[in-house]
Amino acid sequence: MLIYDLTHEELVEFLLENNQKKFRADQIWNWLYKQKVSSFQEMTNLSEELILLLESNFKIQALELVLKHMSQDGTLKCLYSLHDGHLIESVLMRQHYGNSICVTTQVGCNIGCSFCASGLLKKKRDLTAGEIIAQVIETEKLLNERISYIVVMGIGEPFDNYEQLMKFLATINHPKGLAIGARHITVSTSGIVPKIKEYAHMGLQVNLAISLHAPNNEIRTRLMKINQRYPIEEVIGAIKYYLSVTKRRVTIEYILIDEVNDQPETALELVKVLRGLNVYVNLIPYNEVLEAPYKRAQTQTMENFYDILKKNNIQVTLRKEQGHDINAACGQLRSQHL
Ligand code: SAH
Ligand code: SF4
Repeated sequence: MLIYDLTHEELVEFLLENNQKKFRADQIWNWLYKQKVSSFQEMTNLSEELILLLESNFKIQALELVLKHMSQDGTLKCLYSLHDGHLIESVLMRQHYGNSICVTTQVGCNIGCSFCASGLLKKKRDLTAGEIIAQVIETEKLLNERISYIVVMGIGEPFDNYEQLMKFLATINHPKGLAIGARHITVSTSGIVPKIKEYAHMGLQVNLAISLHAPNNEIRTRLMKINQRYPIEEVIGAIKYYLSVTKRRVTIEYILIDEVNDQPETALELVKVLRGLNVYVNLIPYNEVLEAPYKRAQTQTMENFYDILKKNNIQVTLRKEQGHDINAACGQLRSQHL
């Protein structure tokens, strides 16, 4: 087991069971999450006995860097190999407000959206909380800079790996862990309705983003077969529920695909669906992938779509074309490598 898989409480429990003092947990977490050491031997204020105990029970090395790619705007894509040889990807983006990382939660994804490079690869397994945490730590070390924003938008459906996701969030938000503010963390889901409702009661002020991509069932099912299981009315219902419980604004992700979901009438339909909800629409130019039959919407069409939402008082942004389209970035390095 990875040491990063343990919550603070679990580490305390482990120490007590092994006749160690409780305060050692704070020391160990300080080495892991503040000093970011790569071996137990570096934890110089622990006894040799405790170091041996940790070494015989836990691993600290989770990821091996296979490939990294830095683009001109400073975006760093990292391809990591897990202990069992599976490949995952993390993408570091430099924003004007700080460094942000997009992490992977599963090897592949079973949701199988027809436009997504990750979805075309069946899920091999879930990542553990520690493997998700390690992406942040390893990438920080590689960069030698602090990462202060996290988006859970890499490969995988985070709500299909809910328990590990919750552990991950607890540790990265923990003041003795990575201490990243909940408001600096965003989890994106394809719309797993029961989990959205559960997430509303999680207690942390973490942001929620919903991949909607269409205003009606016809288009949405074409893009996302999960829509057959959780149709759009239920997704909107879950968003309403979340809004009423948390009073926190929800982000709606909408990728613009040529002649699929980018027409003016589709924009008007979206306005109707979202009217009155405390949401914010993030329009994303579709990033074409070899495996999928879709094209990015025309620039003019995207701007029209944006204008229609804007005129109808829907809060909206259109992500400008930059080499570092976060979503697109995720998953593609891996699929190219395979
Ligand atoms: N599974 C979750 C989170 C990972 S995908 C989800 O679907 O929300 C993160 C975002 O990237 C989603 O909004 C997804 O629709 C988007 N995305 C996937 N492939 C893309 C592509 N080729 N171009 C642009 N966005 C893409
Ligand atoms: Fe999975 Fe998200 Fe890709 Fe859909 S868009 S296949 S849910 S990773």
